[in-house]
Amino acid sequence: MNIEKIGVIGAGQMGNGIAHVCALAGRSVKLSDVSRDSLEAALATIDGNLARQVGSGRISEDDRTAALKRITTVETLESLADSDLVIESAVEDEDVKRRILIDLCPHLKAETIVATNTSSISITRLAAITDRPGRFMGIHFMNPVPVMELVELIRGIATEDDIFNLVRTFIGELGKTVAIAEDFPAFMVNRILLPMINEAIYTLYEGVGTVEAIDTAMRLGANHPMGPLQLADFIGLDTCLSIMQVLYEGLADTKYRPCPLLVKYVEAGWLGRKVGRGFYDYRGEHPVPTR
Ligand code: NAD
Repeated sequence: MNIEKIGVIGAGQMGNGIAHVCALAGRSVKLSDVSRDSLEAALATIDGNLARQVGSGRISEDDRTAALKRITTVETLESLADSDLVIESAVEDEDVKRRILIDLCPHLKAETIVATNTSSISITRLAAITDRPGRFMGIHFMNPVPVMELVELIRGIATEDDIFNLVRTFIGELGKTVAIAEDFPAFMVNRILLPMINEAIYTLYEGVGTVEAIDTAMRLGANHPMGPLQLADFIGLDTCLSIMQVLYEGLADTKYRPCPLLVKYVEAGWLGRKVGRGFYDYRGEHPVPTR
């Protein structure tokens, strides 16, 4: 079996990046979302990001045109019926993902492989509600997908070895490097990264430093390319909170307790860059700290 036709569910910051790299690797992609606005924004973002890659000499203008032609947008899950691989990348909410998987599977051919780009939710638990746990696994891309080299691959308890290996080869063909994680809450990258971000938010909450001081401290003091609060805004504060909740509930350890200030920002709808405001306000010419 070759993985040629890809379905992507969720056209947000991750879904559009996944569509981008798959199309650039010669695959035909159907990108689906419940929001027409998200689909339109995704096509514009992909076009802009491909243009940037042309500008930096990494791809040619012909590559860009061909990749764009390979992506179509669809608004029903039924439209993904002929996919070889469907990658679910909707919001980090287990109920939403369960609903999508339950609605999706009856439309698919028996051979279709189904994967989720979840940052934290149990692959085994999601697999169990599908009709194909052996052909289900986690493919965890990093943000921004066209730039970041790593992809974490996660087997559910029932994932078949030949399916895992097929997907592993496919991810290599996208030019990515694989790290294999066991199916525990938040896998590897986010198990390590998110408690650090949560601690940075506690540091702000307790008044140890301002937004700018904390980010400067970690950029220049720990040599991180981005400060943790800037990174939280980049990931999306709703996604950060969901991951902390999965860690907190899944590992039953109070060290993963989400910071109340993170909860407050999410309740305010200040979700970070994607909505124009989080720990920084991005609506002006330069980001301005919100505390
Ligand atoms: P996002 O908020 O940018 O986009 C989510 C998209 O899902 C939106 O376009 C929304 O309209 C769509 N959606 C909501 N309900 C849907 C449904 N029922 N059917 C189809 N589409 C639906 O979020 P994102 O940052 O792209 O995250 C998507 C997934 O990727 C999450 O599981 C997240 O944990 C994971 N992820 C995120 C990052 C990150 O840094 N943001 C990194 C790796 C993985």
